[in-house]
Amino acid sequence: MDPAFLRSLDLSQVPRIPIRKAPPGGGSPTCPAGGAGPGECWWTCDKCLGPQDVSACPNNKQWGLTYDDGPSPNSTLLLDHMQSKNIQATVFVVGSRVIEYPAILKREYALGHHIGMHGWSHTAWTSLTNEQLVAELQWTARAIKEVIGVTPTYVRPPYGDIDNRVRGVLEALGYRAVIWNQDTNDWYLNYGNPTGYNPAWVSGNITQWISNAPSAKEGIIALEHDLSGEGVRLAIGAIDQMLKAGLQPQSVSQCLSLTDMYQESKNQSIPGQPGGVKGGDASSSPSFVSPSMASLVPLALLFLMNQ
Ligand SMILES: [Zn+2]
Repeated sequence: MDPAFLRSLDLSQVPRIPIRKAPPGGGSPTCPAGGAGPGECWWTCDKCLGPQDVSACPNNKQWGLTYDDGPSPNSTLLLDHMQSKNIQATVFVVGSRVIEYPAILKREYALGHHIGMHGWSHTAWTSLTNEQLVAELQWTARAIKEVIGVTPTYVRPPYGDIDNRVRGVLEALGYRAVIWNQDTNDWYLNYGNPTGYNPAWVSGNITQWISNAPSAKEGIIALEHDLSGEGVRLAIGAIDQMLKAGLQPQSVSQCLSLTDMYQESKNQSIPGQPGGVKGGDASSSPSFVSPSMASLVPLALLFLMNQ
């Protein structure tokens, strides 16, 4: 924890909901037999969405592309493909991988992709204390700011694990959650495919959603990943399927016409971040990796050792 993260941060309005226990080895905490308690609105447990949560694109021709868990060396192939089709996506990046692969994040930003945050260590957020969650987010924000010069507003909880306590912390920090309304289940492939998941099911899911699109009330926001080579190969195939069907793959920021993708455009100071922010269009002058990036490396190692 950098004490600066908590200075001028008011967590007094954050609902008091018990901290959950994440399973050993990672994943979302288990939902109790009776479901989430009243007022908890725990998405991983009962798919409860908060009023500020984003989970769909407005129009049924739109397809919100979201790729989690990067940046990774495999992201490059997906970026090449999207560039060739002139398509942008939303990428929810992991802080510890941002400092590992800053050049890939820079390329994503330069290509106009919408950059969001996925935490530092991919720990389920309902299993963290308020202060731990602040540290996860603000170290990630600081790393991204060092690399591309802006601070994302939109975040994706690992495993979609969010309840009203987590939402309270996000709100205090000025962040907003993006969940999804379709899951390709490609994430099995990131973890050695322990369940015998058949990769062909991903394209099967996409085919099904495409055929449902004309009668859908809203557009899709799909969960995909750019971590494994297999996942990226499937993501590329999925884009081609959508384009062939006349759908419009795009970033979440495009389908929602967002103007607050980055905190700098909101003209407000960011708790705990150096110098605050004075507004203006930071996207026109991205700063690149500064020597102080090196100060983040020992922290990353500490996080990884604690996994
Ligand atoms: Zn993830």
